[in-house]
Amino acid sequence: MNKTILVTGGAGFIGSAVVRHLINNTTHNLVNIDKLTYAGNLESLIDVADNDRYQFVEADICSADTIAQIFIKYQPDLVMHLAAESHVDRSIDGPAEFIQTNIVGTYTLLEVVRKYWSELDTKKKALFRFHHVSTDEVYGDLSNSEKLFTESTPYAPSSPYSASKAGADHLVRAWYRTYGLPVVITNCSNNYGPYHFPEKLIPLVILNALDGKQLPVYGKGQQVRDWLYVEDHARALYKVVTEGKIGETYNIGGWNEKQNIEVVQAICDLLEELMPDKPEGVAYYKDLITFVSDRPGHDQRYAIDAGKIERELEWKPQETFETGLRKTVQWYLDNSEWCLHVLDGSYRRERLGSIQE
Ligand code: NAD
Repeated sequence: MNKTILVTGGAGFIGSAVVRHLINNTTHNLVNIDKLTYAGNLESLIDVADNDRYQFVEADICSADTIAQIFIKYQPDLVMHLAAESHVDRSIDGPAEFIQTNIVGTYTLLEVVRKYWSELDTKKKALFRFHHVSTDEVYGDLSNSEKLFTESTPYAPSSPYSASKAGADHLVRAWYRTYGLPVVITNCSNNYGPYHFPEKLIPLVILNALDGKQLPVYGKGQQVRDWLYVEDHARALYKVVTEGKIGETYNIGGWNEKQNIEVVQAICDLLEELMPDKPEGVAYYKDLITFVSDRPGHDQRYAIDAGKIERELEWKPQETFETGLRKTVQWYLDNSEWCLHVLDGSYRRERLGSIQE
């Protein structure tokens, strides 16, 4: 049955992958609400922007009245909440926006959704879901033991970003326990892939290397992260919002634990093969690697046990780190215009016919 799915943050990295996935692989209608902060980029949605089943609305999730009007107008059946401030370094420099969007924004959305849901007819009410998309960073730091994060690992966030996401997760669980709102929550590991904003490790390294700039690596680059290809994440999110059990949390990961330095070296190796014609003065891309002082409070290791979603919802990542990274590097090589518009800031002046509420 065709549904109307409302996605928040659909102009961001993961949100745009979700929107593209839903438009290209389902017959549902999509409403994308996004404030278009620096991280929102409508050029990531050009392929679907003209689709009759897709609607973009420029709006802030902290504006209760605006969001309530959008719910009344579009009558969504499912909500996938991805809008957030998402960059750890920015949260250290300026936590206020993180508290505002990630905590106050999620609270505002929950209250709008609670009222909307409580007034739905019985059938629509029973099928409604609010899906909150979160991160494995809420679990804090693992030492280099064999342990993995499971859905019952206690929360121990380290950065203003992860603390604000943890706060939002607690609110969503409380709205389920207290008001019976039909929620599902996912906590995912580091994503990578096409359309990733070049402040994050993988796109930063690719674009700096192509430009002959230094490749900055925190500390000795020994921090371990689990990496998931963004399109695998988008498939997992659709599974959870349509088949997940109400009130449950699902961890999503790629079974790809890598040290940051291994990731940077793997990108350099791929570039040697795919772009042997290097910038002037660069003998090997690896020569550009530069170790810089570590981020305060930097978590040493995150690692996800994605066994529950595999067992219960039969989801598995389709990409290995090797295949996903190759696709990613190739995408950046093939999409220099998207990269250029991000780097020169012109993507922010594009509004591509959005509705402003
Ligand atoms: P992103 O920063 O690329 O995109 C966030 C989007 O939210 C942007 O389009 C931005 O304009 C929008 N937004 C920000 N504040 C808003 C507001 N007040 N109202 C409406 N829209 C607003 O983030 P991402 O990497 O795509 O992450 C999406 C979600 O997934 C986040 O909730 C993040 O915490 C979570 N997550 C990310 C990762 C990752 O590796 N990137 C991993 C696990 C979970």
